[in-house]
Parts: sequence; structure tokens; C-alpha cells
Amino acid sequence: MVDRRRPLQAALGGALALLSPSGALALPPARAPVEAGVGVWSASGARLDQLSLARGWPLELVPSFVTEREPGVRWVVWTSPSRSVTSLRVRSLGPHGEPLAERALPLRPGACPEGVPARVACWRSSVQRLVMDEVDAQHPAAQGSSLLAEVGGQVVVSAGAGPVGSWRVGAPRELGGRGFLAARLRVAVVRISEQGSPAVGEEATDAVQRARAAVRAASLVWGQCGVTLEVEQVEVVAPPPPRFLTVGCGAGLPARGGRVRWRLGGRPLEVRVEPGDSPERAARRIGRAIERSGARARYAWNVRAESAALPSVDVSAVDSRGRTLELAADGAAPLSQDAALCVQLGSVDLTDGLSHFSNDDAALGTVEERALLSAFDDGDPSTIEVLVVPSFAGASRIGESFLAREGAGRFNAVIVDRIGLRASVRSYTLAHELGHVLLNLPRHPDDYGVDTTSQLMDADAADASIFGPRRLTLADCRRALTESGPDAFVPLLRWVEAPPSLTAAAVAP
Ligand SMILES: [Zn+2]
Repeated sequence: MVDRRRPLQAALGGALALLSPSGALALPPARAPVEAGVGVWSASGARLDQLSLARGWPLELVPSFVTEREPGVRWVVWTSPSRSVTSLRVRSLGPHGEPLAERALPLRPGACPEGVPARVACWRSSVQRLVMDEVDAQHPAAQGSSLLAEVGGQVVVSAGAGPVGSWRVGAPRELGGRGFLAARLRVAVVRISEQGSPAVGEEATDAVQRARAAVRAASLVWGQCGVTLEVEQVEVVAPPPPRFLTVGCGAGLPARGGRVRWRLGGRPLEVRVEPGDSPERAARRIGRAIERSGARARYAWNVRAESAALPSVDVSAVDSRGRTLELAADGAAPLSQDAALCVQLGSVDLTDGLSHFSNDDAALGTVEERALLSAFDDGDPSTIEVLVVPSFAGASRIGESFLAREGAGRFNAVIVDRIGLRASVRSYTLAHELGHVLLNLPRHPDDYGVDTTSQLMDADAADASIFGPRRLTLADCRRALTESGPDAFVPLLRWVEAPPSLTAAAVAP
């Protein structure tokens, strides 16, 4: 049986034969023996049954400090020695068959690579690199050798009335899987207030479009590792009402003895905390009071902030259908009337910017960040939440990421602000923040080593040109597969078989 998901190779003009990716005959030829065909080889001589995007710089521009060089691929047409083929038409199609690029490549006679039939003549194209976007494809130095392509799409070649072939564009073959890798994203654009404008765009439709465009730009960058970012949903949402009490906020000190007072559904509740109560024990007392009132208590155990004595705990109240109930302070009374135990409402106020984490609380996020993230978390660790907020407090931050890890944070999420989202199309903010999550990398390579400003994960580069922070290395791709692939602790990436390749009939000239 012919596997329709595999690339087809066929020789037209008399006989039609199907070759498996390794070049062996999958079906006996209908009449005459195969005398013409086309295949693609890496510059190092490996025959390829799937193509992948180039990660490095165009060869013409590689600076001396870059050690990973990717020479690209070459098509080879073979015919009976009595025929000659002078050019090849190459068409690059997107995942839905949309045309991305088309070009004629001159062919020159040359040595046949390993794997073609005996007693044929071979015609070789120049070396081509499949590139992720127009910035790479249109650079004058590399225009003749760069072909725009997209993961999930395919490249179709035809040589006049001669052979045709098609190859899927997927993950780098060094990753060892077939097809490509996909991550699922849930995107929320947050309004500045209940009735306020969305973080980006004039109104909701506009906001959704901008968010989708930013995800698409990030997806093209991640295409270097054969990764596509699928948007499961995009919504425009209001900031959530207060959702929890955080107990032991800040310093995480034990109680000295006092009272905690708050309102649940308009009803005042109060508990006594005893001297020496840890934030955890105090949170349990608060939880029991919530349960006595008829709701259910839920606890989120935070990791300890670096400067805190003990970890804090977020306590929320849910109804019998699992919906989170709104909590509030009891009038002007402070939540905690204990001299040492801090209790705070998990509320979000974006009018003064989102309070963002520092090195001290990076593993758990600020109270405001946790309140925002927990409101949009779907509890599914295999999706990544992307939140777009109007701004961060302070001027320096435009994006940040949260890594769900064993013993650490609870969320796989990134937050970008409106500047970060705008910059996502050209300075790759969203792709960078998603990189922290996919690579499970809280810091940056240049925090420790050489500052390579062309790398996506560089801490501080901003450059919209071909030299900008947009490159991923094979080591990055391997790390993403190890840290977020199907066998990872938090599997964010799954293998997807590419859609069926075009058949010989569909691409016949
Ligand atoms: Zn970063």
C-alpha cells in the first residue's frame, strides 16, 4: 500500500513509478523501467525525504564568530543519458497550499549522488536554503539562494515535461521525528479596566487580529526548529475581580497572634491566627472558615520567594460548580490584624501597569500576576497562555514568561504588553518569551557567556534587520524537544504528521 502521507516521487512521460523516501520502488513500474527522477540532498550528501528551514545566517553573511553553518540543499534530476534537462521549477507552498515563492533554478550536469539508479545522467541545481520570512528571503546577498518556506507546507519541483516531486517542510531531521512539532496557545487580550479599551487595538476585532499577527510572526521564527504555534483561542477579557487571599505575602513571616478578616460574597468572615502559625497553617485556618461558610477552599502553594522566610499560599473560595467566588476586604478594616503575618487580596489593577516580578519573586510572580494568570489558566499544563496587557509598571519591561516546572511555578504562560506585542513582528518579543517557556530557560545565554545578538534568546538585542535577534541553533531545537517535547515533564510540543503531499497528478506540468 502506498502511504499517502509520504512524499511522492514520480517520473512522468510514459511510466509512473512510486519511490519510497529511501528511493526503493514502492510499486512495480506499470510499463517501462524508471528512467527519470528527482531527489533532494543536503550539501553534506544525505538524501532527504523532508525539508526543514535554515536556522543560521545566509552563508554569504555568516560572521566569523558563528560556528554553526548550514549549507542548504540541492536538487538533483536524473534522466537517461540521451536527454538533457536545463532547469527546474521550484514552488514553495504554505500549510494550506498557498503559494509562498516560486523560482526557476538552472541545472548543470554533475556527478550523480548516492541513491540514484545506475546508468543515468544527473543534473544538479545550485544550493538553496529554505528561509523563515521575507527578511531572510529578500536580503540582496542571499536572494538567489534563499527560498521562502513554512513549516507544514511543502516544496514542489518540476522539470518541464520531466520528473516532478514534492517534499514536506517539517522539523530538522536531527530531531529524529517525522512531520513537525506543534504547541497550543490560548491568547487573551486584557482590557485596561472592566469597560476600558483592549491592551491593543481600537476594539475587540482589531485586538484579536493584532494578537493573531504577533503569534504568527513568533511561529515563523520557531519554524527554524520545525515548531508551529497553533492558536486555540483568542479572546478579549476584562481584568478579573479579586480571586484569592495571599497569606504570607512578601516576607513570609509566621504570625504573632491576631485576626484575619475579609468578605466572601458580601458576608464578613474572620479567623484567629495563633503565635507561630506559618503562612501555610494560617491559610488552612482561613480555608476552614471558607468551608464553614458553605463554599469550598482551594489552595495554591507558591514556591518561596528568595528573600522570604516561608512560602506564601493563595487561598480561594469556589462554589459547588467550581466557579471562583469574589473576595473583598471588610470595609476599611485591614485584612490582617496580626503584627507579622501579611494577608493581601489577589487583585488586578492595570491602570497603573501590571506589577512585575523581580529576581526575588521570579519563580512565583507578583500577587497581581498570579491573580491575572490564575484567572485565565485552564488547568491544562499542555497549553501555553499568552496574555497581552496594556503595560507593565515601570518602563523597562515589555514581556515576561512563567515556567511551570517541577517544584517551581504553576503556569506555562507569557505576558507581553502593547509595546511588546507591537515589537513582536520585528523584534521577536513574543517568540523570545515563548522561548523561555519552550526551552525551560529562565535566563539568557548572554547572562553567562558570549553576547550573540543575533540569537533569539539574547537578553537585550533589538534589531529588525536580518542581523536581529531571530536565530535559533540546533542545540536550541534539541533543548526545546527535550524540555517541552512529548516525553518532557510538561509536554508542550507534540509531533504532527504533515498533511498529505501533493500527488504526481496534482503537480503534473
Ligand atoms: Zn528573556
